Amino acid sequence: MITQPRIEIIEINDKPENPILEEPVVPSDTEIIDFLMQLWKLDSSAEDYGVARLHQSLKTDHPLWVVSEKRLRKILKVNGLLQDINPEYAYTYIDQISSGSTPGLSEALPENVEEREMAEGKSSGLFATAGISEGTLIWQESPLVFILTLDILKLVKLGDRCAHCGGALPNRKDGANVKLGLDCNKCEAVWCSIKCKEADGAIHATLSHSTSKRLVNSTKWLELQDFCHEKDWNGLFAIAVIRSRILLDKTGILGPQWLSQAKVRQDVRVKSQVRSSFETSDGDESSWDSQVWAEGLEKLNACFVHEEDRLEYAEFLEYLGRFHLNEYENSIYLLLSRVNHDCAPNVRIESEKGAIRAYAIRDIVKDEELTVSYVNPSHGVIHRRRELREGYGFICNCAKCEAELKLQERRRSNSRSNSRSSVSGQRVKIKDLLEGGQEFELGVPEDVGKGRRKSVRFDEKVIAVS
Ligand SMILES: [Zn+2]
Ligand SMILES: [Zn+2]
Ligand SMILES: [Zn+2]
Repeated sequence: MITQPRIEIIEINDKPENPILEEPVVPSDTEIIDFLMQLWKLDSSAEDYGVARLHQSLKTDHPLWVVSEKRLRKILKVNGLLQDINPEYAYTYIDQISSGSTPGLSEALPENVEEREMAEGKSSGLFATAGISEGTLIWQESPLVFILTLDILKLVKLGDRCAHCGGALPNRKDGANVKLGLDCNKCEAVWCSIKCKEADGAIHATLSHSTSKRLVNSTKWLELQDFCHEKDWNGLFAIAVIRSRILLDKTGILGPQWLSQAKVRQDVRVKSQVRSSFETSDGDESSWDSQVWAEGLEKLNACFVHEEDRLEYAEFLEYLGRFHLNEYENSIYLLLSRVNHDCAPNVRIESEKGAIRAYAIRDIVKDEELTVSYVNPSHGVIHRRRELREGYGFICNCAKCEAELKLQERRRSNSRSNSRSSVSGQRVKIKDLLEGGQEFELGVPEDVGKGRRKSVRFDEKVIAVS
């Protein structure tokens, strides 16, 4: 015969004799934002939480943190994290972005695509002039300026990656690179192929090993690179590369093409960025002041021998802002920079060693605008809108965003009306069961140590099973 366990309720008295004293703490704003970022990173559905639920998660994860819901709301608001739910609070800078018409663009466009002026703040976009069927390769292009990331640049300096394309080096026997003439005889730089060396060899020599100081001071160029690494400042290195390519460009078209791309001052742009202590893709420009930018500009200008090649402070901030608005995988493109955003885009980009191919994701009809997604489309709507507002200065009101926001609002109001009854309801039920002497199944973990009383913690009481 199986005897049913007897259940009684006893007061908890299992505190350690010398408890470690843990004092309540008041966390800093940054600690709270870090917590939120981490929460959203680990669980993207948490992006849909309202303030009350975020507060609950915070108290669960950090029971000793003293943070009121009011303070949490304020932090969310000040850092623009509420703005993506309530666009009326939003700091946007789309109205401060401007661009010009691009020389050479119409010649570069494929025959079934043209550039058209647009209303609503966007200056222009690319449109299909004829139907394009799903899967079609619409165009391909090489970058106007290909830029290595600082991470790859580090490997290049060690001779582990191609100095031009950043690609892995083919496995050659010792000394084979030298025999093929694929190495630089003045530094560790190696190229993966004759093609890469031809494309880059002369520029590399001018920037890194110039003795004549006709255009670039190579010593300062190498110092600038060290400074970029030290500050983890990818944008500065990128605009240094762009600036030097423009100065070395014999056709003279690269400068006007670059200057026609969408621009906004970087100090205007970073105002929209959330101040967390991680997830910054570019040093931590959001917390920088004009002094760091001024220092960067000084290092950059020191590279260029001629006064007229140097940038003014305002120009420098525009260069930085323009780079961030237009870069794709850290490089700059002619056609791609003219394509506007949609969270459900009709164009998909594939890239290989900097060259990109644009394919139709679905059938595109005549006169439809071509769009790509500037952010990961699998992110939740709040996350996407935050990234777009920070990175590109606008609140996305595309059909996908509108639909997802509506769905979220519906879910939130449902959970509001359900939550109260379900939590307290559960509690009353178990209490009633116990008081009424009713029998019920109780899951007792099997791995509880022998000799110890089996118990299940429930609020301040313990349900003991003997
Ligand atoms: Zn290469
Ligand atoms: Zn070299
Ligand atoms: Zn959208």
